[in-house]
Amino acid sequence: MKYEPVIGLEVHAQLLVDSKIFCRCGTVFGAPQNLQVCPICLGMPGVLPVLNRKVVEFAVKMGLATNCRIAEHSIFARKNYFYPDLPKGYQISQYEEPLCENGWVEIYLDNGVLKRIGLTRIHLEEDAGKSVHAEEYVSENETLIDVNRCGTPLIEIVSEPDIRSAREAYLYLTRLRQLVRYLGICDGNMEEGSLRCDANISIRPVGAEKLGTKTELKNMNSFRNVEKAIEFEINRQIQLVESGGQVVQQTMLWDANNGKVLPMRSKEQAHDYRYFPEPDLAPLRVDEKWREEMQRALPELPMARRNRFIEQYGLPKYDAEVLTDEKAIADYFDATAKLGKDAKLVSNWVMGEVLRVLKEKKIDLAAFPIAPAALAELLDLIADNTISTKIAKEVFEEMLASGKSAKAIVAEKGLVQVSDSGILEKAADEMIAANPKEVERYRNGEEKVFGFLVGQLMKATRGKANPKVANEVLKKKLQKE
Ligand SMILES: [Zn+2]
Repeated sequence: MKYEPVIGLEVHAQLLVDSKIFCRCGTVFGAPQNLQVCPICLGMPGVLPVLNRKVVEFAVKMGLATNCRIAEHSIFARKNYFYPDLPKGYQISQYEEPLCENGWVEIYLDNGVLKRIGLTRIHLEEDAGKSVHAEEYVSENETLIDVNRCGTPLIEIVSEPDIRSAREAYLYLTRLRQLVRYLGICDGNMEEGSLRCDANISIRPVGAEKLGTKTELKNMNSFRNVEKAIEFEINRQIQLVESGGQVVQQTMLWDANNGKVLPMRSKEQAHDYRYFPEPDLAPLRVDEKWREEMQRALPELPMARRNRFIEQYGLPKYDAEVLTDEKAIADYFDATAKLGKDAKLVSNWVMGEVLRVLKEKKIDLAAFPIAPAALAELLDLIADNTISTKIAKEVFEEMLASGKSAKAIVAEKGLVQVSDSGILEKAADEMIAANPKEVERYRNGEEKVFGFLVGQLMKATRGKANPKVANEVLKKKLQKE
């Protein structure tokens, strides 16, 4: 019997705002422990939470970008549970009537097929604090509490169980990260916990309608771990069922060091949390006018941009995908291609030289010294045959180092490509005279020597010869006698 996995993901994204969701405390990652707090986020008696408007805007933007219906009227709820890093004893979240519902995102599977993953909902909630144990400064059998994170604004993005493999889960999560980064609402950093992912996983015989018992998998703190952990859990369930066992509904923890999952606790049911409407917050209203304002403020989204790059600039799919992966790169390419003569040439250089330099220098585009107009100027010199690609790479390095323009460097160093056949003929005559043996071999039918002779001619012109003209001139010269 063959099994298929059924996977749904719950993704928490920490919103990139300066203050918490219901108070004015800061949200800086790595701030000194227990100092970014106030009576409100600690839930002291008598305090009242006030909703941060920007947090609502960010959540709505994500809802719009993922084709959700934005609720005009939504409500906050208390999720009650006890945990040492939750001093209030409850978390303010949304349960019934969330802010966004019924959306979807699209992913490209490895075989190029476009697949739609449904989104059940996106809701707002506050984060809990952090229990610290696995650090050097914490002794064994001791747990320290850091409540800085209490009240940090999150959106939770809940997918439909539409995902059918660990790889699809990875692609879906990558798409979500791309979206939150395009929207500028979350930095998407899994290692620092600003993007967190839990997976609900079950298996069923292929062709069956009914869902199997699911487990919830937590603690996957990198993209690579998400794929590995889900793969592991799918195989664990299949082996268990095939050997006559039964999957138990429980929460599992991914243990990255040992590459396996461990049972953590039996899974709570929704009623264990005793949800009820938050009495300290009025219902949230997002009217049509506000929603439309936010819709207009959305940037061009990655999928639309990818398709436009293919259509407008005639780029191959591969190029369009690499270039739209990050918004800053896409913006840079777009600006350069609009100014330059040859969009494919711009694409090659951005994917090649520009990305290489960013990686080598470990900088992002904001710190990259060559502006789109300056790169377009350089590439136009290649497009109109003023300089060769080889010389252009030297000029590029010089531009990085000195900040001078391509034209200035080319003029200063006399790098203009030699396309004048008269000059090249003279250089070819000298080169032929200097290499009688090789010329002899070529004329006796050793074709491969031609490459060497072209190389010598390029060298004689210090790389400035137009390769096409140099080839033609040399062919003619070698035939003549
Ligand atoms: Zn506070």
